[in-house]
Amino acid sequence: MGCNPRYEILFEPVRIGPVTAPNRFYQTPHATGMGHLKPQSSAALRSIKAEGGWGVVSTEYCSIHPSSDDSPFGFLSLWDEDDVRDLAHTADAIHAHGSLAAVELWHGGAHANNRLTREPMIAPSAQPPKFVQPGGARAMDRQDIREFRRWQREAAIRAKRAGFDIVYCYAGHDYLPFQFLSRRTNRRTDEYGGSLENRVRLLREMIEDTKDTVGATCAVAVRLAVDELHGPLGITSQGEGREIIEMLAELPDLWDVNVAGALGNDSKSSRFSLEGYQEEHVAFVKTVTTKPVVSVGRFTSPDTMVGQIRRGIQDFIGAARPSIADPFLPTKIFEGREDEIRECIGCNICRSANNEAVPLRCTQNPTIGEEWRRGWHPERLARKGSEARVLVVGGGPAGLECALTLGRRGYGVLLAEAGNALGGRVSREATLPGLGAWARVRDHRVHMLGKHDTVEIYPGSRLGAEDVLSLGVEHVVLATGSIWRRDGVGSSVEVPTEIAGSQSILTPDDIFAGVTVAGPVLVYDDEHYFMGGALAEKFRLAGHDVAIATPLPVVSSWTQMTDEQFFVQKRLMDNGVDVLLSRSLLSASEGVAEFACAYTGRITRRDFGTLVLVTGRLAEQALFDDLSVAIESARGALRSITRIGDCLAPSSIADAVHSGHKFARQLDLPAVAEVPLRERPFLP
Ligand code: ADP
Ligand code: SF4
Repeated sequence: MGCNPRYEILFEPVRIGPVTAPNRFYQTPHATGMGHLKPQSSAALRSIKAEGGWGVVSTEYCSIHPSSDDSPFGFLSLWDEDDVRDLAHTADAIHAHGSLAAVELWHGGAHANNRLTREPMIAPSAQPPKFVQPGGARAMDRQDIREFRRWQREAAIRAKRAGFDIVYCYAGHDYLPFQFLSRRTNRRTDEYGGSLENRVRLLREMIEDTKDTVGATCAVAVRLAVDELHGPLGITSQGEGREIIEMLAELPDLWDVNVAGALGNDSKSSRFSLEGYQEEHVAFVKTVTTKPVVSVGRFTSPDTMVGQIRRGIQDFIGAARPSIADPFLPTKIFEGREDEIRECIGCNICRSANNEAVPLRCTQNPTIGEEWRRGWHPERLARKGSEARVLVVGGGPAGLECALTLGRRGYGVLLAEAGNALGGRVSREATLPGLGAWARVRDHRVHMLGKHDTVEIYPGSRLGAEDVLSLGVEHVVLATGSIWRRDGVGSSVEVPTEIAGSQSILTPDDIFAGVTVAGPVLVYDDEHYFMGGALAEKFRLAGHDVAIATPLPVVSSWTQMTDEQFFVQKRLMDNGVDVLLSRSLLSASEGVAEFACAYTGRITRRDFGTLVLVTGRLAEQALFDDLSVAIESARGALRSITRIGDCLAPSSIADAVHSGHKFARQLDLPAVAEVPLRERPFLP
């Protein structure tokens, strides 16, 4: 099958200054949590993107000087020749597949915490750090500005030596050049402050300097936040954002534009934004420049992509998350297999990897971040290693991914699911407000399973130990999931809580099973991810009086890792949900919950019609326990029983998918090292 003629426009080459991109698929810079400490992992990851058809593949933020240090997070650096050598590895890996390599040169200014280098922070004007930490950034004098320009030039020369085709001037995401642009952070009174022309001066000089030094062979791209979503005090796409583009319109070779301020605005999760959500802010850019424009918007639909080009919104299809969820997205469109695209669900688990300073992970793509350390390729798997048949029990994300991966390898698979529909927790969780796109985890796998006739699917089949053994398969994989605890044990409360009155005290499982909720509703969240906040929102939307209580000082605390916490708490408060912070559940009986202040121990009480406990989860392992007994007397052909996903250890959907994939990928292959490869500093 070839490319649908409708999508051919996406495969046109596009000139960017002195270089030409082979197509319109542009993987914009995105963090990987790897950075300068993991050069081999970085190169392998970017190589897969190029192999998958992205015509331009960019690195993550790459520091130009030790005064811009983001330790312990995974940033790159181009400070010296060692960095050149490491990054040449990445550029070569991208070139090997015919794509252009772009490097996002970066200086964080007051956003770089410099914990490793202990350099003083610098900023256009003296200001507190953007990260919450004591201290502050000092105001740059003219000599500092001259130095900064030299760092950018020297880093650009190193970038060219490393082999990059596109070199960025990075004026986005609240970093140093952007701090000069915005009135909020630039309070200078010299020629770099005051009027917009003055505030733009540094960016203009950066572009000119970078062009002077490397512009003959490298394209110079500018990444600009055209709206920082701060209202009139900041840069707006109606106001100064537009004026900046007008002033510099023809200077760079490419405009990479987005909304920013904080990162959470740019990589907004699907809970708070739709595909193409940046269009209203960036659409004007192409009307004021003849240079190619790229932007992002979690594009996964080829028709939407074509619309972006035909309607003149952008010249490329910019993507970070869609390229993580499916590095082979362009190839699939090119080969007429767009139905096989593994669409990003917008959950931002990928953002959490960077925020936790660990290698990239993704809910939809279990192989991302594993390219080097485990040698996993998203498209290539070893053929089956035996004629063994595998029974997978449970059709949630772990079971579906396991069955699909086994099917791709050619194994005969029986997939049994107790419920009448597939999807497990994903089918339930996708019904919560804003989480509809999460159903793609199920839908992609169910669709792809239809292409593998060695996999037989049996919904409505709750299996017991005897059923399992009677099937006579060689391998049994249990993916039976988890259940929410009823005893109050959660992240902060280790011992079971005094809980009485089962009618009015429920768990998320009861809610999904359709148990009636009588208001007022009190949600107690000692899990701290999405569930507590999303349930509170759901009950509020249904018209109940709702309060959410949590032992931590903010609601849905872990969503800080997915850059969502601000939006979650804002929405709850905007909707009139009562937010009760720093309260640990002491006891609950019919109609009354008793809390202790997490700091002082002071007791408070709250009446409720329904209390929903969002605390810990327990692995659903009754079948495993029964099988372990039954197998003593009847082993038959059975060679292994393996638990995967939540029924092994309750965790995220991403971990369930990874767990199912790992089992299926490795079945019948020689045992892999217990410790995956690690990149480590070596003694010279
Ligand atoms: P995971 O995230 O690990 O995939 P889920 O909770 O999403 O876990 O899915 C587990 C699935 O297993 C559920 O759809 C559940 O109905 C199914 N299941 C649990 N026990 C059995 C069983 N004994 N037989 C068949 N299916 C089962
Ligand atoms: Fe998309 Fe979630 Fe994967 Fe990130 S982790 S790329 S948001 S599916």
